[in-house]
Amino acid sequence: MCVLESRRRKNLVLLGATGSIGRNAIDVLRRFRGRFRLIGAAAHSNVEEMARLIGEFEVPRAAMFREDKAAELRAMLNGRCEVLAGTEGVATLAGDPEADTVISAIVGAAGLLPTLRAIESGKRVAIANKEPLVMAGAIMRAAADRHGAEILPIDSEHSAVFQAMRSGARGEVRRILLTASGGPFRDAGRETMARATAKEALNHPTWNMGAKITVDSATLMNKALEIIEAHWLFGAPYDAIEVVIHPQSIVHSMVEFRDGSVVAQMGLPDMRLPIQYALTYPDRLDGGLPPLTLDRMSSLDFMPPDRERFPSLDFAYEAGRRGGVAPAVLNAANEEAVKLFLAGKIGFLDIFDRIEDALRTLDINFAGGVEPSLDEILAADRWARERVASK
Ligand code: NDP
Ligand code: MG
Repeated sequence: MCVLESRRRKNLVLLGATGSIGRNAIDVLRRFRGRFRLIGAAAHSNVEEMARLIGEFEVPRAAMFREDKAAELRAMLNGRCEVLAGTEGVATLAGDPEADTVISAIVGAAGLLPTLRAIESGKRVAIANKEPLVMAGAIMRAAADRHGAEILPIDSEHSAVFQAMRSGARGEVRRILLTASGGPFRDAGRETMARATAKEALNHPTWNMGAKITVDSATLMNKALEIIEAHWLFGAPYDAIEVVIHPQSIVHSMVEFRDGSVVAQMGLPDMRLPIQYALTYPDRLDGGLPPLTLDRMSSLDFMPPDRERFPSLDFAYEAGRRGGVAPAVLNAANEEAVKLFLAGKIGFLDIFDRIEDALRTLDINFAGGVEPSLDEILAADRWARERVASK
C-alpha cells in the first residue's frame, strides 16, 4: 500500500462555509479530496449553498446560526445531515470530537465563541476570522496552551510572517513588516473619502473578499486589526510591528531578523494558497494553483502609510498597548460603524469618528482590568456597539 493510501484522511470542520474564505477553502478541499474529509460546515443563513455543499461532500453535520434557517435546511435535506442551530449549535460543531482541523472563517465577533470552542477542544485551528483574536487574543492563546491546540494563520499577511519566521529563531526577529495594498482610497483626497459611497469602498484594487473586510481594507482598519492579530499570533511587541503600503499585493509580508536579513513571502493575491498551507503545514503540496509569473513582479512598490488620512493604524497601536477591553472596543466600534456605512446611514470618514469616540469614552465606562474575562470582553463589545449606534 502506498503512503498516501495508508494515511487517514484528516477530518475538517469549516465555519463560514458560504463566505469568501469558505468558498476558497472548498476549492482547496476539491484539490485534496484524498487528504481531507469535510465532516462539518456552518453558515449564518445561506441554506441553498449549504445544501449544495453538503450534497457534494456528503457532510454529516451542519449548523446554521439562524434557527429558522436551520429548520429550512433540515427540511431540504430530509434527514441526510444533522443540522444544529444558533451560536451553541455552531460552537458544538466547532468542538466536534471527530474533527482534526477547524477552519475559522465566520466574519466578525460572531466567530469568537465557536473559535474558542475549537481551541478548547485541542484542534488545529486555521484562523481567517481575525476579529476574535483582536478581542480576546490573551484568552485564546492561554486556551491553546492549556488544551494543546495549534493556531495557524490563514490571513495572507500572517501566513507570510509565519512562513518567513521559519528562517530564524523567535528571539532573532527584529521587526514584522505587514504589507497593505492601501485599498481603493490609497491616493484619494479627504474630500473624495468624505463623499465615498459603499459601492466605491467595495471596489478593492487587488483582492476579492466579503463586504466587511473590503470596507476594512478601504479604511485600513483591516491592517489595524492585523497589527493586533500579529501581536497575538507571534507574541511580538507593538513596537516591532510595522505597516508598509505595497499596492501590488504580491509581497504578503516580511520579517526582519537581527542580522538585518529581511525574509519576504510572495505569491499571487489568492487566498487559496494560505488556506492550503494552514491545512497541510508543515508539508507543502502541489495543489495546482496558478504560479506567480515574472511579469507580476516587474514592479513592486513600497511606501509608508499616510497616518493622517488613515488614523486606523494609530487606533490599533493605542488600543493594543492599552490592552484590557480596548481592542474589543476598537473591533466592535468598527463592526458597527461599517454596518452603518454599508446601510448608507453614515459617511466613510464617520467610521473613524465613531471608533475614536468609542475609544475616547471607554475609560469612563470601564475601569478595565489588564486581563479581562470573556464576559467583560463581551460586555465591552456590547457597550461599544450601543455607543456607535446611538451617536
Ligand atoms: P464573508 O462575509 O464573505 O463570509 C462570512 C461567512 O460567515 C459566511 O459563510 C456567513 O454565512 C458566515 N457567518 C456570518 N455570521 C455567522 C454566524 N453568526 N454564525 C455562523 N456563520 C456565520 O466573509 P469573508 O469570507 O470575507 O471573511 C471571513 C473572515 O475571514 C473575516 O474575519 C475576515 O476578516 C477574514 N479574512 C478574509 C479574507 C478574504 O479574502 N475574504 C482574507 C483574510 C481574512 P452566510 O453566507 O449564511 O451569511
Ligand atoms: Mg490580510
